[in-house]
Amino acid sequence: MRILLVEDDPQLGDGLATGLKQAGMTVDWVSDGPSADHALDVECFDLVVLDLGLPGMDGMTVLQRARSRGNALPILILTARDATGDKVLGLDAGADDYLVKPIDIDELAARIRALVRRSAGRAAPLLVRGPLVLDPAARRVTVSGDDIELSGREFALLQLLLENAGRVLTRTQLEQSLYGWQGEPDSNALEVHVHHLRRKLGGDLIRTLRGVGYSIPK
Ligand code: CA
Repeated sequence: MRILLVEDDPQLGDGLATGLKQAGMTVDWVSDGPSADHALDVECFDLVVLDLGLPGMDGMTVLQRARSRGNALPILILTARDATGDKVLGLDAGADDYLVKPIDIDELAARIRALVRRSAGRAAPLLVRGPLVLDPAARRVTVSGDDIELSGREFALLQLLLENAGRVLTRTQLEQSLYGWQGEPDSNALEVHVHHLRRKLGGDLIRTLRGVGYSIPK
């Protein structure tokens, strides 16, 4: 799950980025309005966490510009404690949810999971395929009730494929979602993660489309 974090306070931004990464999310962080506006224009994210008071262009403008371009991704705004009007304005301008600072990181992560789930048209929190069950909140994978140990990247890759079951995800889509702007030093990394998932979960779960990408059939 790839999150764009827009926050100009270095300490708060660093804390949020670290916390969301620990919750298994890929986080790309920008600290001004124009960078956020540009990132939303040219790249794909699953959700934006958007501060409203930003240098260069305020968060409300970033929000309105994204919606006016037809960008439907979930947007969660961060508002100051005493700014009740911001919540109303933000929600009316197309935000999906808001949190009041100071932010509780566990609540933020839970709200993100709920918003992304809803935007994908799923009400149930678990991803299930036959005997395989992935619980995004508990970060747990079981097959027929037995726990399967996965690395953070393996878990993220499996979650992404299950969320998009029946669709082929290209290498670029998978790499952007897994690594964001940090990139991945090893060009084989994706193949290695797929190899490990097949070894742990069975060889026929993930299909390879040579030269295109991977999919888990519906
Ligand atoms: Ca701010």
